[in-house]
Amino acid sequence: MRILVTGGAGFLGSHLCERLLGEGHDVICLDNFFTGSKNNIIHLMDNHRFELIRHDIVEPILLEVDRIYNLACPASPVHYQYNPVKTVKTSVMGAINMLGLAKRVKARILQASTSEVYGDPHVHPQKEDYWGNVNPIGIRSCYDEGKRVAETLMMDYHRQNNVDIRIIRIFNTYGPRMAENDGRVVSNFILQALRNEAITVFGEGQQTRSFCFVSDLIEGMIRMMENDQGFIGPVNLGNPVENTILEFAEKIVTITGSSSRIDFKPLPQDDPKQRQPDITQARQKLGWQPKVDLETGLKRTIDYFAARRTRG
Ligand code: NAD
Ligand code: UDP
Repeated sequence: MRILVTGGAGFLGSHLCERLLGEGHDVICLDNFFTGSKNNIIHLMDNHRFELIRHDIVEPILLEVDRIYNLACPASPVHYQYNPVKTVKTSVMGAINMLGLAKRVKARILQASTSEVYGDPHVHPQKEDYWGNVNPIGIRSCYDEGKRVAETLMMDYHRQNNVDIRIIRIFNTYGPRMAENDGRVVSNFILQALRNEAITVFGEGQQTRSFCFVSDLIEGMIRMMENDQGFIGPVNLGNPVENTILEFAEKIVTITGSSSRIDFKPLPQDDPKQRQPDITQARQKLGWQPKVDLETGLKRTIDYFAARRTRG
C-alpha cells in the first residue's frame, strides 16, 4: 500500500514510518518540522520506498494514497502552548484537509487522538464512553478542544460522506526519539537524572500517569488501522499501569543511579490529576495489550538519551 504519515518526522511518526517500511509499504512522510526533525528519519532516506514532503497540513494537499495516519500536531504542553492558535488550526484545519483528501482518494484515515479528550477526568480508569471533563478556555484547551473537534470531524465525515475512519486515543507514550526540549515528563526527568540536576516534580507529584512504550503503541495503532471488523473506535491505546509522578521520578533516579534530588515546582494550570486507560476494547477487539514493562522501556529510553549525550 501507499501510506501517508502526517507528522512522520516526529517521535511517534518516525517509529510508524520505520515499521510500515519494514512491512514493505510505500511511505510518504509529511511534516512541517515544527517539533519533528530530519534526524528522526535520516536512516530512512536511502530507502527508495520512502518519500519526505515538507508541508503544513493547515494547507490542503493532493496525494494518491491508500491509508492516512494523521499524527501531525505538537504533543507536549510546552510546544502546543507556544502558539495555541496554530495548534487549533493544525488539529481542526489539518483534520478537514486530511479528511477531504481521504474522501477524494477513498483512503482509510486514522486520527491520532489523545487521552486529553477526557480532560481532568471524574471517571477512573477512563473508558471510551466517558465524555470527559475539559476546560474550554484554559491553557490546555487549544490542544484538548482541537483534538475533540478533530474527533467530531472524523465522525461527521464518516456519517455524512462514508469516509472510512479509525480513531485512537493515545495515553502518555514514551521512548527513543522523544525531543529533548519538549518538556514532557519522561524526557525532562531522564535528562535531569543523567546530568545529576534537580528533578522538577510539579505540584506534590501525586498526580498520576500511565506510560506506554512506543513499540507497543505503534503495534496497537497499526492493528486499529487494519482491523476490518467495522470497528472504527474511538479506542484507548496505552499502558494501564499507573504511577504517581513522584514514584516515576524516584524510579528514574534509581535506574540511572543518579545523584539528583527532587525539586518541587508549581503545578501548571488544569494539569489532570489522574490518568489511566481502560483498554478492554483494545484487548477484545484488536487482541492488543502492551508487552513492554515500564522498567524495560525506561532503560531503552535512558540508553537512547545517554548515547545522544555522549555523541554531543
Ligand atoms: P511530536 O511533536 O514528536 O510529533 C508531531 C509531529 O507533527 C512533528 O514532527 C511536527 O513537526 C509535526 N507537525 C506539527 N504541526 C504540523 C503541521 N501543522 N503540519 C505538518 N506537520 C506538523 O509528537 P508525538 O508524540 O510524536 O505525537 C504524534 C501525535 O500523537 C500527535 O497528534 C499527538 O497529539 C498524538 N499523541 C501523542 C501522545 C504521546 O504521548 N506521545 C499522546 C497522545 C496523543
Ligand atoms: N511534569 C512534572 N515535571 C516535569 C514535566 C512534567 O512533574 O518536568 C508532570 C506534569 O505536571 C504532568 C505529568 O508530569 O502531571 C505529565 O506531563 P507531560 O507534560 O509529560 O504530559 P501530560 O500528560 O500532562 O500531557
